[in-house]
Amino acid sequence: MDPSQPLVQIRGLRKRFGHHEVLHGIDLDVTAGEVLCLIGASGSGKSTLLRCVNHLERPDAGRVTVGGELIGLTERGGRLHELPPKRLQAQRANIGMVFQHFNLFPHLTVLENVIAAPMRVRGYTRDAAVATAHDLLSRVGLEHKADAYPRTLSGGQQQRVAIARGLAMRPQLMLFDEPTSALDPELVGEVLDVMRSLAAEGMTMIVVTHEMGFAREVARTVAFMADGKIVEQGPPAEVLGSPGHERTRSFLSKVL
Ligand code: ADP
Ligand code: MG
Repeated sequence: MDPSQPLVQIRGLRKRFGHHEVLHGIDLDVTAGEVLCLIGASGSGKSTLLRCVNHLERPDAGRVTVGGELIGLTERGGRLHELPPKRLQAQRANIGMVFQHFNLFPHLTVLENVIAAPMRVRGYTRDAAVATAHDLLSRVGLEHKADAYPRTLSGGQQQRVAIARGLAMRPQLMLFDEPTSALDPELVGEVLDVMRSLAAEGMTMIVVTHEMGFAREVARTVAFMADGKIVEQGPPAEVLGSPGHERTRSFLSKVL
């Protein structure tokens, strides 16, 4: 890919459910190594936008590229067609996603959760996958829980396993959809700490969050969404400190 191009480029992205259009033409760039925090009220379309990035939702118009590659679709005869499942799977392997509700496999141990996809999708040997998993689990402070089952872990620990699982695929991009919203307040910090260290190591991340302190400190860019549009975006000090739009000010007055 061309290194002068943003890693993620979203252009004219539209998405509707039935007759209800929820994304009205989104343009967004994310440079490699940058953290973009996406903020906005519930229902503004943040999750849908994130899900379009790894093609969990198919856009109705516009395009999403990661590393210059169109995601989920291929152009043939002037029309867009769904990529074959294997190729979509390969693209998704490059894009880690962490959800609000962890979504670990309950019947697998922590270690097995982390090695499953690298073995199945990336074709790693079990030994290689296990070695990587131990590294990642120690990075998120959970080496000692490798043989535990998810239900025996706290929410914060489960979410850290989910992050390790995402990283095990060696993604170029990580997507986080309100990763701390389901956690008890005392567990939020440990997850944000892991995300902060990932950012410091140069991981490209798109983070939907209501944690304004995190956004202020870690994001290169904050984008504020309302009603399926990006109302404003810029450095956190601008968007959070002196927002240019009344919608942003009104939102921030409720969350800060
Ligand atoms: P946010 O993450 O900002 O809360 P969402 O992207 O989840 O917003 O939702 C944006 C809008 O799209 C909401 O009105 C929501 O009800 C609607 N929506 C999201 N997913 C679906 C779906 N699968 N089917 C129908 N409507 C949906
Ligand atoms: Mg959401």
